[in-house]
Amino acid sequence: MFQGGYQGRYLRIDLSQGKVKIEKLDEEVARKYWGGRGWGGYLLLKELGSRVDPFSPENKIFFLTGPLQGTLTPYSPRFVILTKSPLSGTFTRAVSGGQWAPELKFAGYDGIIIEGRSQKPVYIFIDDEKVEIRNAVHLWGKPTGETESLIKEELKDKTVRVISIGPAGEKRVRFASVIHESRAAARGGTGAVLGSKNLKAIAVRGTGNVEVADLLRFKSLLVEAYKAIKNDPASPARIKYGTTATVAVAHELGVIPVKNFSRGEFEGIEGLIAETMKEKIVIHDESCFACALPCGKLSLIREGPYAGTVLQGPQYETIGLLGSNCGISDIEVVARANYLCNEFGMDTISTGNVIAYAMESFHKGILTKQDTDGMEVRFGDANVLLSLVDRIAKREGLGNKLAEGVKAFSQELGREAEKFAMHSKGQEFASFEPRSVVGMGLLFATASTGANHSLGPTFREEMKNPLTGKGKAKIVVENQNSYCLMDSLVYCSFSRYGLTNLSRMQFLSAVTGWNYTPEEIENQTHRIYTAERLFNLREGFSKRDDTLPFRSLFEPMPDSPSRGNIVPLDEMLPEYYALRGWDKEGKPTKERLEELGISEFIDW
Ligand code: SF4
Repeated sequence: MFQGGYQGRYLRIDLSQGKVKIEKLDEEVARKYWGGRGWGGYLLLKELGSRVDPFSPENKIFFLTGPLQGTLTPYSPRFVILTKSPLSGTFTRAVSGGQWAPELKFAGYDGIIIEGRSQKPVYIFIDDEKVEIRNAVHLWGKPTGETESLIKEELKDKTVRVISIGPAGEKRVRFASVIHESRAAARGGTGAVLGSKNLKAIAVRGTGNVEVADLLRFKSLLVEAYKAIKNDPASPARIKYGTTATVAVAHELGVIPVKNFSRGEFEGIEGLIAETMKEKIVIHDESCFACALPCGKLSLIREGPYAGTVLQGPQYETIGLLGSNCGISDIEVVARANYLCNEFGMDTISTGNVIAYAMESFHKGILTKQDTDGMEVRFGDANVLLSLVDRIAKREGLGNKLAEGVKAFSQELGREAEKFAMHSKGQEFASFEPRSVVGMGLLFATASTGANHSLGPTFREEMKNPLTGKGKAKIVVENQNSYCLMDSLVYCSFSRYGLTNLSRMQFLSAVTGWNYTPEEIENQTHRIYTAERLFNLREGFSKRDDTLPFRSLFEPMPDSPSRGNIVPLDEMLPEYYALRGWDKEGKPTKERLEELGISEFIDW
């Protein structure tokens, strides 16, 4: 019996049959995996058949919260989407904030499992106990902003919370995202899986509440946490600039990617830094539900060819990938490309990568005007960038090939072209040049989703010695585990401003009445990460996939403070496996799985 936090039930919606069921959340599963990412990894192992096609009705997609959503726990208004990725074929998880997760909890559910495929476009409306699968034929083809507005109009309620896909998801662009009020659950192609199921959106209205087991303790924790957030030395810059505060420092260290990760110095960086963005386009700070650190920046382009563009962002990752990585030095162009990606429902990180990849291929003569619909696909050309964003979303011409992701496109071009295709396991690199911060290289190589920064970034911990592999395996394992904790309880990763794992767990204890020893927490986070590894092994991944592109491993960095450096992956990987309790081939041993309590999922 749950004392607080959880609603103790979730929805199972079968789109093939048009059936909705309410199921009970098993308390033992919740105690063992918490929620969000942990619960999703367990469900993927338990419910998904081996080697299913991500676009088939047999693939399932989970929208999960955890114990804290809907309470006032700082940094907790988030949900996690989990499925088998159509981009990488691995486990994938995408996270977003905003207002949707608390609303789902207020409606009385901890999560939603979607299975099957609808015959025609539909959207789901959850109105407390009433759950409907509604016609969405009139919404198909609409951008995400318009979709949200039309659904609110149709339901005659502006406060209904909506998540939706855009035309890119409908066309199964393999890195399509899910959008909620201009925020993206971006990585891994979750939007394309929704598109394959003909599911356009999920709207929620909830009028209930979430119980807290020990209200007095919870209140005193809240007071302490708000003080700690206010007093954190990094909070003021994060509130003033959001994640763009990182742009200048990342460039100083050669970390922000430049021209398809070919170098570390970018002559146009001044046009992209936080001060420039604040001065030119930011008009307002925004926050998710009840968050004390309003890191969202509402931006407006006031004049010029993109005048009237309004969006939340761009953030550091987007500036790196759609900006310097494509040779673009104008924040308004980046903002416009970001806006288009959001409206089409497309991950800005993967989009920036595939476009930069096409630009380098054109520069090298591997692609010619015959392959590019007559365009000169050159670094720094704003019109080319914006045109390719449009073509990818619509799968037109070259865009249709880029929509398959950088791995698939590079394989089509051939071996030499694969050397500078910047991905791991098919997931395009996040905005960190691993030759300049090598622990990030190990993170990209071993992350269960492929190259995703948000599975445990080590950038800050590595600042003092970013170029050596020594000691990095330990930092990567610790950070990956810490992100398992955050993603499963489901905290925002910016909760590092003012919270620690200890205070995060204190909130869990006050809300649910559950207590864990440090050893149990350590075990639990290893369990969550290892469950994702088991899923990937079952799907055919192995040690040979824990790798990086040729450029990261063999092409020395040409400039910046990391000039001459490469990622010493071979040096770091064996130590990483040992720390995880996996064998030399990166496979968890039977003893380790028994220790972690997940041997039920193995057949070796
Ligand atoms: S820190 Fe920013 S992204 Fe995180 S919960 Fe607060 S407003 Fe949302």
